[in-house]
Amino acid sequence: MQFQDYPVSSLMNIAARPEIVFTHGEGSWLVDHTGKRYLDFVQGWAVNCLGHNPPAVVDALARQSRKLINPSPAFYNEEALAFAKRLTDQSCFQRVFFTNSGAEANEGAIKLARRWGRKLKGGAYEIITFDRAFHGRTLATMSASGKPGWDTLFAPQVPGFPKATLNDLDSVEKLIGPNTVGVMLEPVQGEAGVYPATVEFMQALRKLTRERGLLLIVDEVQTGVGRTGKLFAYEHSGIEPDIMTLGKGIGGGVPLAALLSREDVSVFEYGDQGGTYNGNPLMCAVGSAVLDVVSDPAFLESVRQTGDYLSGRLTDLSTRLGLQGDRGAGLLRALDLGADIGAKVVEIARDDGLLINSPRPATLRFMSALNVSRDEIDRMIDGTERAIAIARK
Ligand SMILES: *Cc1c(COP(=O)(O)O)cnc(C)c1O
Repeated sequence: MQFQDYPVSSLMNIAARPEIVFTHGEGSWLVDHTGKRYLDFVQGWAVNCLGHNPPAVVDALARQSRKLINPSPAFYNEEALAFAKRLTDQSCFQRVFFTNSGAEANEGAIKLARRWGRKLKGGAYEIITFDRAFHGRTLATMSASGKPGWDTLFAPQVPGFPKATLNDLDSVEKLIGPNTVGVMLEPVQGEAGVYPATVEFMQALRKLTRERGLLLIVDEVQTGVGRTGKLFAYEHSGIEPDIMTLGKGIGGGVPLAALLSREDVSVFEYGDQGGTYNGNPLMCAVGSAVLDVVSDPAFLESVRQTGDYLSGRLTDLSTRLGLQGDRGAGLLRALDLGADIGAKVVEIARDDGLLINSPRPATLRFMSALNVSRDEIDRMIDGTERAIAIARK
């Protein structure tokens, strides 16, 4: 089929998409409507943690779809119970609420914190969040985000999200008042351009929130499920948050996300929270299958080693081309270009059969599958180097 033959005008115009229609995927590769192959270092925005169409996901979908798809969230089902148990066994949390997207999980985290504040902290409701943070696209999560311009885009905002500066404890402390109920952050700010919170900052934040009786909420929608080389990024700093949200990688490509909390923070009462598809066995079966692969210590070790390899190759590339260096954690990495050519590099690379992402004008971001091979990394480095050379001309 020709691109012109597709009914593209039937979709709402929400992004300037290239004239490509993807038809197949396998591992680190995508195939478009002309049969052209692309090496994928975006993976649905860090979603396909095991690559495209991995056997674990395909098999779980096939198996579960023959058994039970959705009995209703008002009843227990075996897959939601088993998956919740796996998640609580592997984390510092005791309770799980499943959602369909990261934004919905964060919306749930905000509601849970406000509920806790109403019940146990005199009606406190403010959640301190951070400049340049990204928490999703619902009205409340947009308000919690610190993306420039988002405060006015769909005004009026949802109130109650004062903004601090990442890695600056004073900026957090200054915002604490009688209405503060918690602090919410991404352990690595992904959409902002891959800026990690330091271990010292995470530890100091945990200490501060404990001293002041506040909840510490980590948004691990992008960093969770092995992305940074630990199952959850909070483990790098040896702290235990009170609430965590997961999304993206947790479903290996299917719409699945989760809100987790400590037992004493799990204060929802009947009727406070719910949703038609939440905890459906089809998605939960996939979640368990993905977690079985990713939580294997040997798999996580391989993510750390592959992340180190990617970081080394990006650092070499940066030195060779006189760029500003690599940063990130595990297989969530960014390269600073030192000039606003990110969009141009992405476009040139795509024409050349390589998918990378530019979250900010001077930054490239790399979010490969967690099982990406070194050969694929080498190819990506070559393609990126070519694209940067052309973009600079
Ligand atoms: C992608 C992302 C979200 C939003 O997740 P959706 O599934 O797109 O709603 C929230 N927080 C972070 C840190 C993200 O990276």
